Amino acid sequence: MPSGMVGTTPEVNTSVEALSTWTAWAYLAAGAAICAGCIWLIPMTTIVAYCEAMTITPDAPTETRSIDGIPLTPKDVTTIGFEDLAPRATVEAERLHRKQRLAGALRIFGRLGFGEGVAGHITVRDPEFPDHFWVNPLGLSFRHMKVSDLILVNHHGEVVYGKHSVNRAAYVLHAAVHTARPDAIAAAHAHSVYGKAFSSLGIKLDALTQDSCAFYENNVVIADHGGAVVFEEAAGRDFAEAFGNNRAAIHQNHGHFTVGASVDEAVFWFVCFERCAQAQLAAMAAGTPKHIPHESAVYTRENAGNAMTGWMHFQPLWQEICATDPELFN
Ligand SMILES: [Zn+2]
Repeated sequence: MPSGMVGTTPEVNTSVEALSTWTAWAYLAAGAAICAGCIWLIPMTTIVAYCEAMTITPDAPTETRSIDGIPLTPKDVTTIGFEDLAPRATVEAERLHRKQRLAGALRIFGRLGFGEGVAGHITVRDPEFPDHFWVNPLGLSFRHMKVSDLILVNHHGEVVYGKHSVNRAAYVLHAAVHTARPDAIAAAHAHSVYGKAFSSLGIKLDALTQDSCAFYENNVVIADHGGAVVFEEAAGRDFAEAFGNNRAAIHQNHGHFTVGASVDEAVFWFVCFERCAQAQLAAMAAGTPKHIPHESAVYTRENAGNAMTGWMHFQPLWQEICATDPELFN
């Protein structure tokens, strides 16, 4: 086949050949039926010639196939965003990286409609002082968040960097989780509609879709203190203990919380859980959902719902917010 023609792979041509052959023989059958009662008859040699003309012989694979002069040989490739996984050279650079992701993640929460007055918070540990965490200040819109707005809070609930106050519930719950879970670099929570609706049922998220498998045997319902605003440190410790080693917790009659090894991961799990809760509510309202079998749910969780994939899923959200909200870096 001349270069520049569409469909040069053997697989494509084989399909074209099969389609064309069937098309030709369909015409033949139709023609025979039409002609059955007629006084004229298409010569068989003409029909055979037509069928042969419609048959495309697949090209044999060659070493010279190319597009725009580029040979179609395997290439070394990179994955978008992976350059950000490289360790930062200094603790200051790592701190700035985390704060930028945090400001962007909060704007993503705002864009997705997760704001509910002053409720909701995302926290990330400081890389140099891991018993301190950066968080959004009380009363500032998610959608207006900038790096310079973020505050640093110690594990006594005191603001030690920045000039705005902290949401007491953010400190009580997140500080307790960060203390109990050294692996939780970041934690996320908001009063998003489907998360809080789902939390009123007092049930876990089920493995109903591929996405929800990320939370299979990895989410928990916490009923204690669920209906009351958590302002006491003892209640925060109860919450963290009940959270266990799960990726997500459903605080009954409140909403969901997620953790991760980065802002990217924790925030994507929050967004994903919200949508999985929406899907489960819709499925339960429509009928009786079928559950993914245990082995398949575990396989999907380990292969498509691990920490790295959580980080990866955040990258398109990050690209969008960087493109539209460059002031987040101020
Ligand atoms: Zn809350």
